[in-house]
Amino acid sequence: MDRKKFDVVVIGAGPGGYVAAIKASQKGKSVALIEKDFVGGTCLNVGCIPTKTLIASAMKYHDLKQAADFGITVGEIGFDYAKMKARKDQVVEKIRKSLEGLIQSNGITILRGHAEFCSPQEIKVTGIHNEWIRFEKAIIATGSKPLDVAAFPCDHVKIFDSSSILELQALPSSIAIIGGGYIGCEFASLFAEFGVKVYLIEALPSILSLQGSMISDTMTKAFAKRGVEVITSAMVQGIDSLHSGVVVSLKDKNPVQADIALVAIGRKFVSESMGLEKAGVFRTEKGAIPVNEKMETNVPGIYAIGDVTGKAMLAHVASHQGIVAAANATGQEAFMHYNAVPAVIFTYPEVATVGLTLEQAKEQGMEVGLGKFPFQALGKSVATMETEGFVQVITHKKTGQILGAQVVGHHAASLIAEIALAMANELTVESISDTIHAHPTLPEAWMEAALLATDAPIHFPPKVKPMRAV
Ligand SMILES: Cc1cc2nc3c(=O)[nH]c(=O)nc-3n(C[C@H](O)[C@H](O)[C@H](O)COP(=O)(O)OP(=O)(O)OC[C@H]3O[C@@H](n4cnc5c(N)ncnc54)[C@H](O)[C@@H]3O)c2cc1C
Repeated sequence: MDRKKFDVVVIGAGPGGYVAAIKASQKGKSVALIEKDFVGGTCLNVGCIPTKTLIASAMKYHDLKQAADFGITVGEIGFDYAKMKARKDQVVEKIRKSLEGLIQSNGITILRGHAEFCSPQEIKVTGIHNEWIRFEKAIIATGSKPLDVAAFPCDHVKIFDSSSILELQALPSSIAIIGGGYIGCEFASLFAEFGVKVYLIEALPSILSLQGSMISDTMTKAFAKRGVEVITSAMVQGIDSLHSGVVVSLKDKNPVQADIALVAIGRKFVSESMGLEKAGVFRTEKGAIPVNEKMETNVPGIYAIGDVTGKAMLAHVASHQGIVAAANATGQEAFMHYNAVPAVIFTYPEVATVGLTLEQAKEQGMEVGLGKFPFQALGKSVATMETEGFVQVITHKKTGQILGAQVVGHHAASLIAEIALAMANELTVESISDTIHAHPTLPEAWMEAALLATDAPIHFPPKVKPMRAV
């Protein structure tokens, strides 16, 4: 085996790892990026990009179905799911190629193979490349993978996980989705748009429970409107794969029959079989690697970022953690903050959040201001017939500090950026209401919500009628 020395070694080329590698290289360090599979990790290959490519097809289809409402005559509308899947593969392939080029253009050495620590300063790579590497600093970015449940293992023929479901060539007529978190909800929305009968099964009393009751209730209604059967407080006991389909057995409830099932109940940290014990790096019982705010593990000079740290499991969080870890690994000082992390759920309608929910803000004992503005009251939304949902902003009543915001509605994914920027820069709610927003646009909803939070609405009836002089 060859022996090479690098200033920084990054394990895993997902959105955490490749960003960390680029940042470390920009600081003039020699960097090796080790990847056992494809560059881009979960996000590019079986996560964010493939799902959103398929969802983009569903959105186009949705718009075409509405064409007549806009006075547009189209012929018979249909779809070919195999072609959508092929387009998804092409998109992934295209981005993967350009990402490889980008990594190489930064002078980073890509090593293809499985990385395993041999000591706190050595890593062995086994695979297409076989190398024994010495390093000054290491960044672990090994991500996560679908959680396997012993009671209902995936056969990838009738019972799928979030990766294998992306390989379907044709749509089933019905699907049972186990897990009402964001991944389950995105797939439920995607399949329902194409007329698949969807059963969305959740063990907790509500879907999207992490996003707060307002979003959970709104999305439960939105799903019902689209024919998705949401079954909550439903504990799955097993899934039988029969010739005709699957039967999902539920505790104290009727079983659910469908053509296929998707298990989307969580993710497993990827931290096993990589010699962490030889490097002295601690991992929890569940496999997460704890880090401090500089993204450093218990071993000085060894950092961990992304899903494997068990913080917010989102691509952009992984990338930002990568920037922080790379800065610290190259002699600067940077800290990770989580107070202004936007999160998007690409359902129909979309959901986007940043900061605290109303419940969380109240639990912290703060006197809370709330401004909630429905899209029904916004000119742009009425013009585009996209009136479903609302924006809401949660503030500290006394100081006007923005504590959090939520959107349910069309283009929520883009809308949340304004409040994320405001929160990251510690702006107050007045800075939103005082900003001139172009008309007619969706971001005007933020201005209206900000005005509502300060009890000064313009395009919404006031809570208290103004006193008039007689
Ligand atoms: C269906 C789905 C949809 C999603 N949609 C979104 C979304 O819309 N927006 C969003 O922000 N997030 C989304 N996510 C989450 C997002 O994909 C992850 O948060 C993100 O990929 C985490 O990045 P990471 O760099 O930590 O790990 P990963 O992307 O998982 O990458 C880890 C890499 O490490 C490699 N690796 C692991 N062990 C080793 C080893 N020992 N040696 C060498 N290489 C190794 C793996 O092969 C992998 O390529 C989605 C996830 C799923 C499953």
